[in-house]
Amino acid sequence: MSLARIRIRCRPSQRSKKLHGLLSTTVFTIAFIMLQIMPASAGEAWFDLKLPDNHQRRSDANRAAYLSPDLASLPLALPADANADAALNGTAVYSYLRDIVAITLEHQPAGQKYRGRIAGNAAEQATADYLADQMRAFGLTDVHTETVQGGRQWWPEDWQVTLIGDSAYGNGTTDYTFTSAFPAVQLEAGAMDVQDLEAELVYVGLGRPVDLLAHDLSGKIAVVHSVLQSDPFFQSARGHIEKIVQAGAIAVITVVDGPGNHQYALEQVGSDEAPCFLLGGHDGRFLEAAIAAAGKEQPLRARISMRASVRESWLGKNVLGLVPGRSDEYLLITAHLDGYFEGANDNAGGLAAMLALAQYFSDPDRIPPERNLLFVGTSAHHEFSDGAKAFINDHPEIVAKAVLVLNIEHPSSLLSYFRGPLKMSRGTVPGQLVTTNSQGWRTLTISNGNERVLSFFQAAAARYGVVIEGTVNRRPNGDAYDFFKARIPVVQLMDANLWFHSSGDQLDTISPAGLERTTRLFADVINGIDDASATELGRRKRK
Ligand SMILES: [Zn+2]
Repeated sequence: MSLARIRIRCRPSQRSKKLHGLLSTTVFTIAFIMLQIMPASAGEAWFDLKLPDNHQRRSDANRAAYLSPDLASLPLALPADANADAALNGTAVYSYLRDIVAITLEHQPAGQKYRGRIAGNAAEQATADYLADQMRAFGLTDVHTETVQGGRQWWPEDWQVTLIGDSAYGNGTTDYTFTSAFPAVQLEAGAMDVQDLEAELVYVGLGRPVDLLAHDLSGKIAVVHSVLQSDPFFQSARGHIEKIVQAGAIAVITVVDGPGNHQYALEQVGSDEAPCFLLGGHDGRFLEAAIAAAGKEQPLRARISMRASVRESWLGKNVLGLVPGRSDEYLLITAHLDGYFEGANDNAGGLAAMLALAQYFSDPDRIPPERNLLFVGTSAHHEFSDGAKAFINDHPEIVAKAVLVLNIEHPSSLLSYFRGPLKMSRGTVPGQLVTTNSQGWRTLTISNGNERVLSFFQAAAARYGVVIEGTVNRRPNGDAYDFFKARIPVVQLMDANLWFHSSGDQLDTISPAGLERTTRLFADVINGIDDASATELGRRKRK
């Protein structure tokens, strides 16, 4: 127990100008003796800070707001002339989503820390098989899976980030291991085996070049604060970590300032040269408070272990199902199979919407579409889009006849945001997850900027109440990038929410009504596209 700490605690009741010196010495002595004879009190450890686990209960209660009947998602009021087809009903779409999340959880080997539908793993393969079964049951033509030969695969096997305890930080302070620590995903890195790397922590604020000026990072573990702007992909630490390692840090811990205590599987927030981790909100805020409480004179230390291997190759599956058209042209409807953790929105939501559309368009009572509608679930979007590449490679005749790719990726979630802790003069208002009864906004990409296609989206968005950003992107940034490179126009709608690539991407962040809005929007867009000529859609003639 440090002298400074005890003096601060004694001050309010013992202050007296005249006797201050004598009293504080006496009080210190008494306090010191009492600490020696009193049993360790749990409240004293770690500078009296609340441990992250203590925040979990409130966080869980907050999370339950997603399921609260008071927060029923805005109902979808369908126009009178809307198609009453049961295939597009939110409950039906949501049931596929639930199935895919259940399959994902069912196929996680016990003890495996890198989890989800990872390229080629059992969960991703089982998801492909599930989609094939559903498409066959709907009556699609030529439903099958195709093998995807994957290349090398970076695989984090085990890791640990532990804050080293010391009785100087309070009575009974023991080591604290962060449950949310997750390695920054380094797909192109080599194997790594770091065991019990112990070093001093140095806090570098936001980790920008300007934040590094005042610090000597050599041989130390840097701690960086990262702000969501407004989702985990767009977080402020992105792009800064490599520089921190170049400045001498032997490891980096990024504190993600988000709700709860989730794990994040993200690229471009690490380095090939040093182990880098992301911490969830509760763990991160505790770490920052502990660093501040320890002060400059007694910097905290941490112990880090990290073992990642590189697998030689992997085998994945794409799944294909066709609704034959009347011409030889194709409209491709794609959704990626893989996803981290439960991946409910990303991309079980996209797969569920795709299945609903496959059922809707394969209905034998419908007039067949003008173009072939080819539904493709692609493997390994996170591993260099090997599934999309394999499809493009293996089907040049389809690629040549494809007028457009409609990519369905994280289509719908409830609008929520994180209101961070707010320091007031008398105390701190704790950070809070705020949920709403609305839908998150989607980004719209139309790679060739075609006005006709845009008009279909605008009409359908207005019709079903879909929130879309005001700017139309031209460059696809998801799984559809390879189709774009293969010179097929790509359109996509994406909702990357607070839980993007995190263990919080769970079923309760998605409402059936929201899924129905997006699925109906896509059905209208597909119908609109089907009625337009290739020239009207801006598809350049192939030689
Ligand atoms: Zn995705």
